[in-house]
Amino acid sequence: MPEWEPVIGLEIHVQLKTHTKMFCGCEAGFGGEPNTRTCPVCLAFPGALPVPNETAVEWTIKLGHALNCRIAERAVFHRKNYFYPDNPKGYQISQYDEPLCIAGFFVVPAPEGDTEVGIVRAHLEEDAAKTIHVGGETGRIVGSAHSNVDFNRGGTPLVEIVTQPDLRSADDAKRFLQLLRQTIVEVGISDGEVEKGTLRADANVSVREVGETGYRTRTELKNMNSFNHIARGIEAELRRQIETWESGGEVVQETLDYEVKSDRVTPRRRKEEADDYRYFPEPDLVPVEPEADVVERLRTEVPELPGMRIRRFEEQYELPYYDAEVLNGSAALAALYEQVALDGIDAKAASNVLMNEFVATGVDAAAVNGAELAKLIEARATIPRETFTRALTESADPEFRAETYLGDTLVADTAELEPIVERILANNPGQVAAYKAGKKGLLGFFVGQVMKETQGKADPKVVNDLLRKKLA
Ligand SMILES: [Zn+2]
Repeated sequence: MPEWEPVIGLEIHVQLKTHTKMFCGCEAGFGGEPNTRTCPVCLAFPGALPVPNETAVEWTIKLGHALNCRIAERAVFHRKNYFYPDNPKGYQISQYDEPLCIAGFFVVPAPEGDTEVGIVRAHLEEDAAKTIHVGGETGRIVGSAHSNVDFNRGGTPLVEIVTQPDLRSADDAKRFLQLLRQTIVEVGISDGEVEKGTLRADANVSVREVGETGYRTRTELKNMNSFNHIARGIEAELRRQIETWESGGEVVQETLDYEVKSDRVTPRRRKEEADDYRYFPEPDLVPVEPEADVVERLRTEVPELPGMRIRRFEEQYELPYYDAEVLNGSAALAALYEQVALDGIDAKAASNVLMNEFVATGVDAAAVNGAELAKLIEARATIPRETFTRALTESADPEFRAETYLGDTLVADTAELEPIVERILANNPGQVAAYKAGKKGLLGFFVGQVMKETQGKADPKVVNDLLRKKLA
């Protein structure tokens, strides 16, 4: 059997979080009573004229910088013609052969090295309205009794990002999407929520034999509403294509849906060729010609991106890759870590506390006073475990001060602990005998008993020393 290599490219749609829609003044954004955020422009009344949203253009340029794209000196809006109830104009205003952002790349770090994914383009367009199919089991049009259209979403600014087919596994595709999502959120142009549909990804999937240079026929996978489903959908499609080739069949170009329940893909419709859309330049809009100084200003407004920050953390704080990645799970957590680590705390110890304990509390990292948290972490060996955990849980409180907890010190006084240790040994003669016979692991049992007795307030180091001495 030949060895197969997956070839995966992604098309990602990102809804921008501008206040207003792409070509009119209607409020954009999720929710609202259906069909209340509309006007003659986004409902396509005859004679209504589109006016481009300047913020949307600027944000797309910022994203272009984040994706290392060339920003076009001239971009043109085109009409993409198709009929569908969610598209009242009969065409979508999009960009075709002259998009705003061209030929970039996006680096996804991983423990074994960077993966560089080529970006073909990122262009600006308007979102379609939302169709809701009522009465069926799956929420899809098949089997539904009727369909409703909510035009609130129609006309929301949308950026489409198209990658090169550079991804070589479903897991790589998922990692790419996770980092891209975080990047978009940190650039501040979208909330990038897959569940709410403000970030949607389709995958172009094909396989080829290892060593083969050309590409085989690809299929397009749609309608996956989480990164996990995307990865599983790609896996299922890869399996199907390999089986098809190996059984002497041929993969045909088509659009597929991934069915989570059956873990299988099902065909949707034959893929339209670009020609079918009869693209032509939008006569109601002049080309977008961003000025060089604006493009430059927008470049300076792009913050340090999470992918690069992961590598910087590894280097600057000498952290393992895993730590650097977890700490960069959000900009707020990364910033909190830096406040703590730069406050003189051992970088790895600070990382351990944040990764293993702080994250589990669910506390909003953005609300925490880093200097106070640093003091607490510094003194954590001298306060009871329980107090420390409680402090972490309360660390987002505006009144949070380390000293509130530092008074609650551990009992390190041998005179106070010795009688307790002796009592516990006297009460557990069987374990004592076993320990002396060689079961040294029982030390943990005795320590646990002392901690229980002292409600976690005994200094574990002193308890350990005492026990060793008594059991010798
Ligand atoms: Zn409108």
